[in-house]
Amino acid sequence: MNFLEKYQKEFAQYDKLDHDFIDENKIWAQLNKWKNPSKADVRIVLKKAEQCIRLEPEETAILLQNKDESMLHEMYELAHQLKEDVYGDRIVFFAPLYISDECANNCAYCGFRSSNTAMRRKTLTMEEIEQEVRIMIEEGQKRTVLVYGESPATQVDFMCDSIKKVYSVKTEHGEIRRANINCAPLTAEELRKLKKVGIGTFQVFQETYHHETYRKMHPQGTIKGHYRWRLYCMDRAQEAGVDDNGIGVLFGLYDWRFEVMGLLYHTIHLEENFNGVGPHTISFPRITPATGTPFSINPQYAVSDSDFKKLVAILRLSVPYTGLICTAREPDKVRREVIPFGVSQIDAGTRIGVGAYAQSIKANELPDKEQFTINDPRSLDGVVSEICDMNCIPSFCTACYRAGRTGEQFMKVAKSKFVHNFCIPNAIFTLKEYLIDYASPETKAKGEQVLKRHIERFKGETVYQTIQENLNRIENGERD
Ligand code: SAM
Ligand code: SF4
Repeated sequence: MNFLEKYQKEFAQYDKLDHDFIDENKIWAQLNKWKNPSKADVRIVLKKAEQCIRLEPEETAILLQNKDESMLHEMYELAHQLKEDVYGDRIVFFAPLYISDECANNCAYCGFRSSNTAMRRKTLTMEEIEQEVRIMIEEGQKRTVLVYGESPATQVDFMCDSIKKVYSVKTEHGEIRRANINCAPLTAEELRKLKKVGIGTFQVFQETYHHETYRKMHPQGTIKGHYRWRLYCMDRAQEAGVDDNGIGVLFGLYDWRFEVMGLLYHTIHLEENFNGVGPHTISFPRITPATGTPFSINPQYAVSDSDFKKLVAILRLSVPYTGLICTAREPDKVRREVIPFGVSQIDAGTRIGVGAYAQSIKANELPDKEQFTINDPRSLDGVVSEICDMNCIPSFCTACYRAGRTGEQFMKVAKSKFVHNFCIPNAIFTLKEYLIDYASPETKAKGEQVLKRHIERFKGETVYQTIQENLNRIENGERD
């Protein structure tokens, strides 16, 4: 059986459904009903959001349709407060690791699409993966997301081998402690294999929840052309025990308000079917130009910087317990603006070509064959330094995942604000390790100030003593 046939057999279960959980008429009816909400309407929703409760679609529609500047200001303030309440002021760092750009799909917007002849294809060998990981570790990375195209070269057994390889690399300073993956939707059986090798978050972005736009962007006859195979992939993940999932939208394909509603409906669908466990993270990339890909965004759907800011804040208010990831596709200025009201994870030191970490070290430049353009190419050290300037605390923590606090367990601790008391000390320890092992003198000085301020907050609490002891151990060379 060839590659495509294997999945086509699986499609049948979804083809026979007479509808799926994205009801476009309902979404538009909700958005249209609230075309011009009053201040009072918006305030009622904000009052509910204040309690850190996931919003209902009609409530999110009210926020999405708000046009009043003063209410927008209140939304930003509350989004910031919720972020502080649930996540504290820590920002978790990661960097992507591109494993393969071979792809049988032909997504209109992506540099890896099969019809892009400008791209010379490559899948890393195990030795090359090791080389990339060593460079990442030496730069200070502890968390990564492995990225794959969808092709016979990167089927699940290869993915498992590549994950095992990433975890096996140890250097003087440590190792990658959490490997998430971003790949094509898989069968439940394949997902079970990934679970066994210890993947972190399993990410698949729907790209667009709008059925017709999805069809236009993803040619029929390709695996990715099947909307529902992708839409229900997190259901299969949950069934397979992979309970730490990341969903997302590629903004710029369709109306951004509709897409936020789609993300919310997806969250509700998962919560309703899997014991209240929604997605662990939501990603919201905006399309950027890709090598050899003359895709032009329909101006009607382009997401301006100010709308982007709104959508991040509205996501934070709508799904207070879901991590929000803002990647280096965004320029540093935009990242700086959106971090305060919602973002919990960012990448830094990012290279997005296959073999790009090794290439950038040799040539000291960005690789020539990226999937798309990144707009924040700064080093990890540079971004850590800036996060310190913003008075936030950079974190490289992977403790929840290693202690098995994923899925339902993670939701429980997040909802009890345990994250705040448990994660800040871990951010303190992992930042300390980073400052000793990797930071430039300037970042180190700033980081020490951030540590000092954060440690002081625990004065008078029993945990204060433990924090001091752990910091002493780290200074004496012990590593987690
Ligand atoms: N091949 C897998 C898939 O499509 O699901 C996973 C990897 S794909 C390389 C990761 C994500 O990159 C896609 O889901 C899409 O949202 C995003 N992406 C693709 N082209 C992009 C572009 N031109 N600009 C920004 N993001 C893009
Ligand atoms: Fe392939 Fe993913 Fe790019 Fe589509 S977005 S062409 S599936 S790598």
